[in-house]
Amino acid sequence: MLGMPLSPGSRRIAEYRYPTAVRVLVLGAGFGGLELTTMLSEALGADADVTLIDQADSFVFGFSKLDVMFGKREPDAVRHHYRDIAKPGVRFVQETITAIDPVGKRVTTDGDAYEADVLIVGLGADLDPTLTPGLVEAGNEYYTVPGAERLREVLPTFEGGSAIVGVCGDTFKCPPAPSEAALLLDAFLGARGRRDATTIHLVIPFGKPIPPSPDTSEALLAAFAERGIAFVPDRRVAALEDGDAVLDDGQRLPYDLFLGIPVHRVPDVVKASGLAENGWIPVDPGTLRTRFPDVYAVGDVTSVGTPKAGMFAEGAAVVVAEQLIARSRGEESSSRYDGKGACYIEFGHDEVARVDVDFFSTPGRPTGTYTAPSIQTAEEKAEFRRSRSVRWFGG
Ligand SMILES: Cc1cc2nc3c(=O)[nH]c(=O)nc-3n(C[C@H](O)[C@H](O)[C@H](O)COP(=O)(O)OP(=O)(O)OC[C@H]3O[C@@H](n4cnc5c(N)ncnc54)[C@H](O)[C@@H]3O)c2cc1C
Repeated sequence: MLGMPLSPGSRRIAEYRYPTAVRVLVLGAGFGGLELTTMLSEALGADADVTLIDQADSFVFGFSKLDVMFGKREPDAVRHHYRDIAKPGVRFVQETITAIDPVGKRVTTDGDAYEADVLIVGLGADLDPTLTPGLVEAGNEYYTVPGAERLREVLPTFEGGSAIVGVCGDTFKCPPAPSEAALLLDAFLGARGRRDATTIHLVIPFGKPIPPSPDTSEALLAAFAERGIAFVPDRRVAALEDGDAVLDDGQRLPYDLFLGIPVHRVPDVVKASGLAENGWIPVDPGTLRTRFPDVYAVGDVTSVGTPKAGMFAEGAAVVVAEQLIARSRGEESSSRYDGKGACYIEFGHDEVARVDVDFFSTPGRPTGTYTAPSIQTAEEKAEFRRSRSVRWFGG
């Protein structure tokens, strides 16, 4: 039984069912929150006592934004509606979280207030385009669904000139995504007969496209060279001004089309909660525990030391779920987050590569394994999407 009212405006999440039961409050239904709640429901059934809160009505895979932007999939087709979540012991609530008290494990939303025995913060990274002067007025971004939908209208009208894919902050979701956008733009313009009329620059704050995997970086650099994409390493776009992208060293690149990756930061509610330090939520890398007892954080909102990417958020969620499942049985979990994950990389022309990265085995020296682009890996990526859709939403 879930959602027993405590008092008006304050709701008790669930009754204890047996001595070791815990009321679990999951903040954010992204990669991390969805996998966590699915595992708890599978293991504990109706006793799971999970309330999952998200402000949105649906989940969109990050990589689906590329499909929307380049007109490969309809915006409605990439939305997975939270109303379809039907899991024993899990209740989804669509509300915006306005305050988090990590000491009392209390959460306030625009509609209610909640308290829990265990709190898991999976609120992801927010984007702040206003931190890059000119970006809102004179650029585009494709990291949000509205941004990708807008570009879907803009790109078919672009007849040529200077196009820039530019990263504006130091840290950003899915490290391959800027390279993917440059390669997909090349293919998109080629198919429309506008490639010869366009120059493409890719500006990123790393020395190489994928620093932990030299093979992946080499393959991407070779693809850029072959397709005439100018790679500008170790730079961020600091502003858009008078038709130029102004880089952080003062260099100016004129543009006709700017595809930006805005500055990332924790959601305001996380900042106000005191959970974040130096920008993100610090956690024990093995257990994902924060410094507050019974408060965990997973995924992009943390500074756990892995990239901001879905598979890493999912891997962290698995470890938290295993701890909670063990606890509900009165046991201790020995499960530790291993910092391993993979990203698919769109190379254009329907081919997809893959990079698997291990961040923790050799401290400070992540290592990566590259799988070259192929149609087969594209099918694997489609299966990845399909399997999560079935697992989390039932279809
Ligand atoms: C263009 C693009 C391509 C990508 N490609 C890949 C890829 O190929 N592979 C990969 O692994 N990753 C990819 N990613 C990254 C991936 O989408 C994210 O890293 C992943 O979604 C992070 O999961 P998370 O659970 O930490 O947070 P998220 O999935 O971002 O979920 C956070 C949730 O919290 C909710 N939320 C935030 N604030 C509030 C609030 N105040 N109240 C209520 N709810 C709130 C949000 O609505 C959101 O649903 C890509 C991202 C982009 C933008």
